[in-house]
Amino acid sequence: MTLTEPVTSLKGVGPRIADRLQALDIRSVQDLLFHLPRRYEDRTRITAIGSLHPGQHAVIDAEVELADIKYGRRRSLLVRVSDGTGFLTVRLFHFSNSQLSAFSRGSRFRFFGEVRQGSATCEMVHPEYDLLLVDEPAELEDRLTPVYPATEGVSQLLLRRYSDQALAQLDTTNLPELIPESLLSDWTFPGLSDAVRFVHRPPVGEDFAELEAGHHPAQQRLAFEELLAHHLSLKVVRNRSKDKQAPVLPEDCRLCRQFETALPFKLTNAQARVVKEIAADLAHGHPMMRLIQGDVGSGKTVVAALAALQTVANDYQVAIMAPTELLAEQHYQNFQSWLEPLGLHVGWLSGKVKGKARVACLTGVSEGTAQVVIGTHALFQEDVVFHRLGLIIIDEQHRFGVHQRLALRDKGAENQWVPHQLIMTATPIPRTLAMTFYADLDHSIIDELPPGRTPVQTVAVVDSRRDEVIQRVKHACAEGSQTYWVCALIEQSDVLQCQAAEDVAVMLTQGLPELTVGLVHGRMKAKEKSAIMADFKAGGIDLLVATTVIEVGVDVPNASLMIIENAERLGLAQLHQLRGRVGRGSKQSSCVLMYQGPLSVIARKRLDVMRNTNDGFEVAREDLELRGPGEVLGTRQTGDIQFKIADLTRDSGMLDDVERVATCLLVDYPQHISPLIQRWLGTADRYGHV
Ligand code: ADP
Ligand code: MG
Repeated sequence: MTLTEPVTSLKGVGPRIADRLQALDIRSVQDLLFHLPRRYEDRTRITAIGSLHPGQHAVIDAEVELADIKYGRRRSLLVRVSDGTGFLTVRLFHFSNSQLSAFSRGSRFRFFGEVRQGSATCEMVHPEYDLLLVDEPAELEDRLTPVYPATEGVSQLLLRRYSDQALAQLDTTNLPELIPESLLSDWTFPGLSDAVRFVHRPPVGEDFAELEAGHHPAQQRLAFEELLAHHLSLKVVRNRSKDKQAPVLPEDCRLCRQFETALPFKLTNAQARVVKEIAADLAHGHPMMRLIQGDVGSGKTVVAALAALQTVANDYQVAIMAPTELLAEQHYQNFQSWLEPLGLHVGWLSGKVKGKARVACLTGVSEGTAQVVIGTHALFQEDVVFHRLGLIIIDEQHRFGVHQRLALRDKGAENQWVPHQLIMTATPIPRTLAMTFYADLDHSIIDELPPGRTPVQTVAVVDSRRDEVIQRVKHACAEGSQTYWVCALIEQSDVLQCQAAEDVAVMLTQGLPELTVGLVHGRMKAKEKSAIMADFKAGGIDLLVATTVIEVGVDVPNASLMIIENAERLGLAQLHQLRGRVGRGSKQSSCVLMYQGPLSVIARKRLDVMRNTNDGFEVAREDLELRGPGEVLGTRQTGDIQFKIADLTRDSGMLDDVERVATCLLVDYPQHISPLIQRWLGTADRYGHV
C-alpha cells in the first residue's frame, strides 16, 4: 500500500464513509495524515475529584453513590459519583432506561469530560464513560488524544481509527520531503514524517501548554510548510498569468499630460512614483496585476485616472468597479468632470440602472463609444459585453477575495488576451497578510498624503458627556465648518440602525435649531442619498447625520469634525476609514469617538490606538494584533484560506523565510511545487486554473 492510495484501501472505510470524508477534503491516505488535530485532550492520567477545577478536561475513576431523575425545566439524569477525594455530579439530558439501570449504586466508571461548576458540586455534562470491571484493569491512553475537525457521520473515534492506520503506514514509507534540508538549516525542525507522527499522537510528558500554543518544533515544521504551500499557490497563479497576453499600451500619452496640466494640484512624489510603475506595467504585453495601497485621502483616484487615460489613449476600454453604489457614483462624477473635457465618454452602470438607460449604456459599452465605464458588481453581469476591455480597476479591494479577482479578470478575457488589473485599497494590508493573501499581486504603496493636510485630532468621550459634544458641534459649525455625526450600529438590524440615525437627527435638530441638519442612511433611495450628499458637499447642510454608509469615498474638504457614536463597537479599520472623511481640507480637524462605558480592556486599547495614530498602516498592524487575521480580512477572504495548523499571528516570524524558500523552490525545484500545494490545499480546482 502507498500513501497515495484512496482511503477506501483502509480497513473499515467503505464508499459511504469515503463520501463523508470527502467533505473534509480527505481522499487519500496521505490526506488523512495532513488532516491535523485542532487540539488535544490529556487522557493519560487520572485526576482526583478533589483537585478538579472548572474548565479542565479530565479523566476520573469513580463509584456511583446515587442516580436520580430530576424533573426541572428539562428532565435530566443526575449521577452522583465519588472517588474518596470528593463528589462530582454527572448530568445526562438524554438517556435510556438501560443507562439508568447501569448507573447502579456501587458500580465503578471511568469518565472523561469537561468539568463545570454545578450548584453544589463540580459537574460533567454528557461525559464519555466506560464501566470499570473489577478483574480487568482499564488501561489509560499513553498518548495525548487528538481532536480532529470532524463532520457529520465521521466521529472522533473513527478519525482516530483511520489515522492510526495511516500512521502505521508511515513506519514503512516516509512522506517525501519536498523542502530540501539545506533550506531549513536555520531552524531546528524535525523531519516531516516525524513531525506528522508527533502531531497526531504526542507522547505523554510533552509540555501540554507548548502544544496547545502551537509552539512545538513539530507543529512549527508543519506550519512552515503550510504557509509555504499557500504562498506558492499564489505565486503559481501569478506566474501563470504572466504567460498570458495582455494589450500593449505604450506610455507616451498626450491625454495623460493634458489631464495632469488641468489638475489644480501637482501629484505628490508617491503618486508620481506609482503612476510610473503602472505606466510601465501597461506598456508590457503581460497582464498587470497590481495592488495600490494608500491610506484614505492619499489620492488614489487621480492615479487610477491616469492609468485609465493611458489605456483609452491606446484605444482600449476601462472598467472601474466599486463595492457600493455611493462610492461608484462618486467616481462617476469625478471621472465625468475630468474626462469629458478631454472629449471622452464615461458610462454609468449599476444594478439600479434599468430600461432604456441600461440598454443605451450597454450599447455604448459593446460598441466602444463609452471608453470608460463605472459601476458596481453590475459591471460584470452576463449581458455586459465590452468592445475592447484593456484595464479593470477595482476600488476598495479588501472586500473581494483571490478567486473573485480571477473570475473578474476572466470576464474581460477575450480570445488569447486578458485585460490588465489595478486594485486599490484604503485598508492597508500588513505585510504578513499581504504575503499570504496577495502574493499573486505586485504592490505599490502611496505612502504620502497631499500637502497641507493637518492630522486629525482624535479624542474618546464617554456617551454621558453628549451635551458637551453637541456644544462642540455648535461651535465648529458657527465657525463655518461642517460636521458628520455617524451612528454606528447598536443593533445588527439595518432597520433599527436607520431608526437610530433618524432619532439622533431629530434630537440634534431640536438641540441645534440654528443649524441645518441632514440625514443619510442605507435604506434611502440612491437618488435621495446622492441629493443629500451633493447638498452637504455644496455647503447647504451643516451637520450630516449618517449611518456607516459614508464609510467609503465621500470627499467634502470643508467637513472638519466627525462624531462617531458607539465607536467601541466598530473595527479599527472601519473607524480609520470613517475618520478619513475629515482632515481633507487645510483646517485642523477632529474626530470624537463616543463610547458607552465602562469599556473592556480590549475596547479601551482599540480606542487608544485610534487616539495615538493617524497612520493607516499602524492602525492595521494593531488591528491584526488585537483581532487576528480572520477578523481583519473579513470572512469573505479567510473563507478562501483556512489553515490547518499555521497561524498568521503566531507564525509571522517565519514569513521572511517562507518567502525565501518559495523563491528557491520556484527556481531550483519546480517539480516539488505542485505536490507541495496538493498536499496542503488538496486538489481544489480553484488553484489549478488561471
Ligand atoms: P483616496 O486615496 O482616499 O481615494 P482621493 O483620491 O479621494 O483619496 O483623494 C482625496 C482628495 O485629495 C481629493 O479631493 C483629491 O482631489 C485630492 N488630491 C489628490 N491628489 C492630490 C494632490 N497631489 N495634491 C492635492 N490634493 C490632492
Ligand atoms: Mg478612494
